[in-house]
Amino acid sequence: MNFPPRGARLGVALLLLGAAQRGPAAEPGNTAATNNTMTIADVRQLLRAVPLIDGHNDVPWQFRKRTNDNINGIDLRSDTRQLHPPMVTDIPRLRAGGVGGQFWSVYIPATLTGSLAVRAVIEQIDVVHQMVAKYPDTFELALTANDIERIHHQGKIASLIGMEGGHSIDNSLAILRMTYALGARYMTLTHTKTLDWVDSANDEPRHHGLSPFGEEVVREMNRLGMLVDLSHVSADAMRAAIRVSQAPVIFSHSSARGVCDDPRNVPDDVLQLIPANGGIVMITFLPQYLTERARAHALLKKAERSRLEQLFPEVPEKVRAELTAWDTAHPLAHPATLNDVADHIDHVRAVCGINHLGLGGDYEGFEGPPEGLEDVSCYPALLAELSRRGYTADDLKKVAGQNLLRVLRQAEAVAKRLQTGRKIGE
Ligand SMILES: [Zn+2]
Repeated sequence: MNFPPRGARLGVALLLLGAAQRGPAAEPGNTAATNNTMTIADVRQLLRAVPLIDGHNDVPWQFRKRTNDNINGIDLRSDTRQLHPPMVTDIPRLRAGGVGGQFWSVYIPATLTGSLAVRAVIEQIDVVHQMVAKYPDTFELALTANDIERIHHQGKIASLIGMEGGHSIDNSLAILRMTYALGARYMTLTHTKTLDWVDSANDEPRHHGLSPFGEEVVREMNRLGMLVDLSHVSADAMRAAIRVSQAPVIFSHSSARGVCDDPRNVPDDVLQLIPANGGIVMITFLPQYLTERARAHALLKKAERSRLEQLFPEVPEKVRAELTAWDTAHPLAHPATLNDVADHIDHVRAVCGINHLGLGGDYEGFEGPPEGLEDVSCYPALLAELSRRGYTADDLKKVAGQNLLRVLRQAEAVAKRLQTGRKIGE
């Protein structure tokens, strides 16, 4: 019962077979793919020419949780594995991973609402500005696709800001515009809660996707040149946003529902809409969105948490202790591996094609990464596995960052067109 029915698995197998037929082997110059398999060292070389741009990393949240946003409380030049609990991101490992661009998530919990949410998101944006100021030899704030390429050529990591959750703007287009002015270049429309204008994948729907104001938010994001991020939203909201958006959309950290049937993942019928829209799905590494066994385990743990919270409503430390005991009593060996991530990439390629893929690890946003992708130094191992599966060097460049650069450029062009054609408020 932990696995999809045979029919579903057969469907995936047929899709992948289709990919193989019209994928790498069918492309000219790729007939000897097995002889051209790239090593991790080859991939690192490739990432000097093309930036690897990850869609989602929660380091700013780690600052908030661990240091109350004190930028000196974590030294990113040191080995952050030594911290308690350990982190998976630091500058030496970003360098080892060939990371050339990073969307730093300015996540705030969905429980924050109103002006408290606005205050928190501005404080998290400030963390990214402080990180960039503190490590100027490593990071530089990137606001455009050209910025990303220039900063990468200078040997630094282009640092972008991604907002996670439309509760950050408190139903205000003015606040949306001001977060753009502060550097935010995408907004995930929801996190785990349905908002006044958009449905979440993890909550009861109220709008069949987007309300009229939700459509207005998407149009204003298009006008600004802020990417519309559809991770975390309901499938209906994905469809509605793709219908409304004039610019390509992104999924900054999502995987494929055809491989792991979690509502946080992208269903095949939505994947089929992506090529016409021009957007990308940046595959995420969170095990419960990768494999059915990890998903089933996460559901059991969630049920246990709810039970404990009802039993001990006033004693959160008791709930935590009991959950730790539950973890020990219910170990899950091998929740997911690097190969599972590659399977999701294969699947999205089979449905959408190579031009609609990217990577969005969600590092620092969860515990227990897949085997082989333990931290931010591991991207080259994933790309080497794709090479082993027949992806060409050009394919790898697209997955690593060229697709994201194309999407951002298209969004910038749409914004330019809309801004010349329409004034604010018209
Ligand atoms: Zn997230």
